Amino acid sequence: MGCNIAIDGPAGAGKSTIARKVAKELSFIYVDTGAMYRAMAYYLLKNHVTGEDSKEIEEKCQGAEISICYENGEQQVLLGEENVTSYLRTEEVGKMASVSSANGKVREKLLSLQRNLAAQNNVVMDGRDIGTTILPNADVKIYLTASADTRAQRRYQELTQKGESCDLEEIKRDIIARDERDMNREVSPLKQAEDAVLVDSSCMGIEEVTEEIIRIYREKVRS
Ligand code: C5P
Repeated sequence: MGCNIAIDGPAGAGKSTIARKVAKELSFIYVDTGAMYRAMAYYLLKNHVTGEDSKEIEEKCQGAEISICYENGEQQVLLGEENVTSYLRTEEVGKMASVSSANGKVREKLLSLQRNLAAQNNVVMDGRDIGTTILPNADVKIYLTASADTRAQRRYQELTQKGESCDLEEIKRDIIARDERDMNREVSPLKQAEDAVLVDSSCMGIEEVTEEIIRIYREKVRS
């Protein structure tokens, strides 16, 4: 069993940036489970699934062959033989992932992939149900959050820096709708595990959050 750090939290809390940095600092691998759900969403969209019919999602998701590998330390997601990593971070795929990830069959399909990676490697794994469902015995559990205003503001800056036009209020509405879906679904809803440490990054920078998580990890392994 590898050493496992689980980081859960809502959309836009900075999980992937922080998890990647913590993993680098500790020489662990970073496992981005959101990218696996996005790959599933990409597959469903390619197969003309709309997201409104849960039976259709259940049936179609069975055909997706999702796996991951690492290139220069960066996680790559494969759909069959095809590397789909660069197609996954669009709003369309993100929205579909938020809908299809509520489906129990979709989650079942990705569960063993996630657990096997954690069993064989030292990992920092981020997602929504890592500390509660996937790795209930993780060595360290973090619940990373920030206010909806802060998360919307960060996303707005990210998109405008990329030259994309966007509306702050619309981004905030979308973030709140995603929280609502992730926190209230029946299967593996997003919630803080009882033994997770809450880190609110609303007033913290990336370096500060990274250092705080590494401090929590070091304290835990010493004890
Ligand atoms: O974190 P990211 O935005 O890439 O995740 C995309 C979607 O996948 C989330 O909105 C969430 O609904 C879902 N997800 C999940 N469980 C995970 C990771 C992501 O349900 N462990």
